[in-house]
Amino acid sequence: MFTKARTKLTLYYLVIIMTISLFFSFIIYQGATIELTRIENMQRIRRPNSAFLIDPDLITETKSRIFLSLLTLNAFILCVSGVSGYFLSGKTLKPISEMMEEQKEFISNASHELRTPLSSLKTEIEVALRDKELKLKTAKDLIKSNLEEVDKMTQLSNYLLELNKFQNRSGNLKFSKVNLADIVKETAGKNKVKFNLEKVIINGDKDSLTELSRILIDNAIKYSDGKDVEIVTRKPGILEVKDKGIGISEKDLPHIFDRFYRGDKAMGKDGYGLGLSIAKQIVDQHSAKIKVESKLSKGSTFKVIFS
Ligand code: ADP
Repeated sequence: MFTKARTKLTLYYLVIIMTISLFFSFIIYQGATIELTRIENMQRIRRPNSAFLIDPDLITETKSRIFLSLLTLNAFILCVSGVSGYFLSGKTLKPISEMMEEQKEFISNASHELRTPLSSLKTEIEVALRDKELKLKTAKDLIKSNLEEVDKMTQLSNYLLELNKFQNRSGNLKFSKVNLADIVKETAGKNKVKFNLEKVIINGDKDSLTELSRILIDNAIKYSDGKDVEIVTRKPGILEVKDKGIGISEKDLPHIFDRFYRGDKAMGKDGYGLGLSIAKQIVDQHSAKIKVESKLSKGSTFKVIFS
């Protein structure tokens, strides 16, 4: 598809360039030959019986030379613009093609994540239906396990909706003066975390910032197996979420903000690898920066810097 679109775009470039080039060549040819034709005609009228000052064959030859030069020039323009048009159209289409690849990968990952719990639901129900002496307790256990799968799917679809929401929201974020300390306090709720909060007023969208701190705090709690989690806010616009948990390996660090990426150590925990990509979108929409420092088995610090 990419090659087809690239060839089409090259052809469009060529048609435009060649139309302009042929139009100007025509004007140049007309301009140059009109004078020669005039001289030829004047000679015929004024000196009908004597020898011409300029040989008419020379005039014809000059005209065809001009024509040939313009033809060569157009052939040259055709070749150069063909090659450069192909190169430029490749450059123009590259980001679109990359975006489409990303989208394709995203859809395939999302369907895979949805199919896994669905197949396990289906298998469990089929096995139970085949059992002619199904006991009430077994049926209840089955329903309980099915409910867990349904909860997981609901969580995944919520994440997907959020990802879409924050991706398309840059235009309608409601920016206002908000206190980061209030937001994290509200978000942490009854979770056991240590606070080290300073009043920090920034210009931001309250809902997105609540979501951002929820993601960072939830991760810190999830990946720290009950160890201390500390939240810091300080001037001029810094939010830090620190934990002393499992940490992130150097191999995983460059990828943790990618959609559906999950670190090796995270595999035993619930999750889909979408939280940090949503967090990154929110950070980007606030023209802020997010930094991570982490050591395996020592813990991680996520730092958001608002300007
Ligand atoms: P999820 O937590 O659902 O896997 P995220 O996008 O929130 O997805 O995180 C991506 C990955 O980053 C996680 O799978 C995990 O490997 C790593 N990670 C994020 N936060 C932490 C943390 N506080 N401690 C250790 N690893 C973390």
